[in-house]
Amino acid sequence: MTTDSAPVSNFLRTIIDNDLKSGRYQGRQWAPPPSPAAVRRAGAIDPARIRTRFPPEPNGYLHIGHAKSICLNFGLARDYQGICHLRFDDTNPEKEEDEYVHAIIDMVHWLGFDWVQDGTEHCYFASDYFDTLYQFAEALVQAGHAYVDEQSADEMRATRGTLTEAGTNSPWRDRPATESLTLLREMRAGKHPDGSMALRARIDMASPNINLRDPVLYRIRHASHHRTGNDWCIYPMYAWAHPVEDALEGITHSICTLEFEDQRPFYDWILEHLAELDQLAAPLPRQYEFARLNLSYVVTSKRKLRQLVTEGHVNGWDDPRLPTLAGLRRRGYTPGAIRLFCERLGVSKADSRIDYSVLEQALRDDLDPVAARTVAVLDPVKLVLTNFPADHAEPCSAPLNPHDPDGARRKFPLTRELWIERDDFREEPPKKYFRLFPGNLVRLKYGYVVRCTGCVKNDQGEVTEVHAEYLPDTRSGTPGADAIKVKGAITWVSAAHAIAAEVRLYDRLFRDAHPDRGDQDFLQAINPDSCHVTQAWLEPGTQAEPGTTWQFERLGYFVADREESTTSHPVINRAVTLRDTWA
Ligand code: ATP
Ligand code: MG
Repeated sequence: MTTDSAPVSNFLRTIIDNDLKSGRYQGRQWAPPPSPAAVRRAGAIDPARIRTRFPPEPNGYLHIGHAKSICLNFGLARDYQGICHLRFDDTNPEKEEDEYVHAIIDMVHWLGFDWVQDGTEHCYFASDYFDTLYQFAEALVQAGHAYVDEQSADEMRATRGTLTEAGTNSPWRDRPATESLTLLREMRAGKHPDGSMALRARIDMASPNINLRDPVLYRIRHASHHRTGNDWCIYPMYAWAHPVEDALEGITHSICTLEFEDQRPFYDWILEHLAELDQLAAPLPRQYEFARLNLSYVVTSKRKLRQLVTEGHVNGWDDPRLPTLAGLRRRGYTPGAIRLFCERLGVSKADSRIDYSVLEQALRDDLDPVAARTVAVLDPVKLVLTNFPADHAEPCSAPLNPHDPDGARRKFPLTRELWIERDDFREEPPKKYFRLFPGNLVRLKYGYVVRCTGCVKNDQGEVTEVHAEYLPDTRSGTPGADAIKVKGAITWVSAAHAIAAEVRLYDRLFRDAHPDRGDQDFLQAINPDSCHVTQAWLEPGTQAEPGTTWQFERLGYFVADREESTTSHPVINRAVTLRDTWA
């Protein structure tokens, strides 16, 4: 883990450097829209030195794991004068929706990336290639590289073999190409029910790599698709569609997570055979795998996130406790913090689990130099300065950001009655407690030194008022300020001027660092106290425009909720505490 600006190890940069040096992708032609060989060869030389892509399936909201892939793919394209395509991998009709498409576009933009080059938008949909994919499938059938299999899905599974045993050939494997072609056309025309047959690649049922044992290319699904409606009743499998999508788009480096490593031979098989059949233009894309992000204290599987949302464990996909990008944004995370986090992760092939505190530290580091400071009192109790005139308001001020001491300042009055944190007073102080207790001297930050004189309690023994006397010559910024040395300084707001706000103190959603470990039910690991709501007082002048972030002095970084905060009823989320309080 590095925290300075030294480049973090990224083996993909070495690969790209070598490819650029050897000229592997030099002089390749490119003619948008993405197209097969014949059209591509008529195109101009590709102005992009490399092409990468981020290929989400529009079946859910993006999460912090996707951010790693986004920062990697868009980041490499930016650094190498290339371009990164946003491609919706929408080959699965049942689960995909336009709502997710819009949400994904919104979040990639929010992270600070775009896909426009010389006025061309490189945002694509796999479903735009359905016709081309189908033509390629016919070409494979005609060349004897694919066949229609009439075994049921169960039979195919049963004859696929195991890791130690070879599979067995389907009785339909050697049927004439013309027969397969007729059946494929009938499949496409809707003449056959779901599951009655499938198109398979003819590779090797005895291959040690199970992914090469005649994988399915097309299955029949009489289902409506979010973009192509009822035009199709056969849909391509991911492993078949993906390499073709990459090649049509002229992708040079196709970067995916490690679980696709075993698919790489099939990826190459598809591309090489389609190139031999003159359907795809060289140079062909290459697939590279990296370790996915595993973050402690969260779940990132879309299925589990959906369960949390639909079963009401959280309030929607943008709940501030979720690791979705929409949730992190609402929680107060900035695009810069997420990019910084991804940069610090580096890129490797070794699986690891990153502690949630690394993400939190990235937010602190991103916000500290820029966030405006303000004071909030989250658990208020009154402090009465018994010798302070009741009708006086002493003007005080503080820097907006202490890293810029001569910059803009905030102004606020000090009066006889103040709100302070309940925890800043103890009748009986524990050891090393330097804040208010009877007899002790404490500085009111940016104000006076005060001497605590006691407190008032109600019938239940709760402190309702703390009393103190101020020392008139000790105001901060005056010559007398340093005359008396005190060990503690506390924050405060004038009770008559403070702004009321609802503050939501979020904590981790799971108590367990690895909530979906093994077969444990991740719902059992939910933290029942992940949101604590307080009625707080804010420094006067604090403008709680939705989305504004501050550092509340001594407390942490906070954001005005994008959805619920209004001027008359500020709603504020704690993004992160000032220090890691979890360990
Ligand atoms: P899930 O398993 O949560 O459903 P997914 O991988 O199926 O996620 P996709 O929409 O297919 O989701 O992912 C789009 C891209 O994001 C893929 O290239 C995938 O490799 C990458 N990605 C997804 N999760 C992570 C992760 N945790 N770390 C890094 N990259 C990821
Ligand atoms: Mg996926």
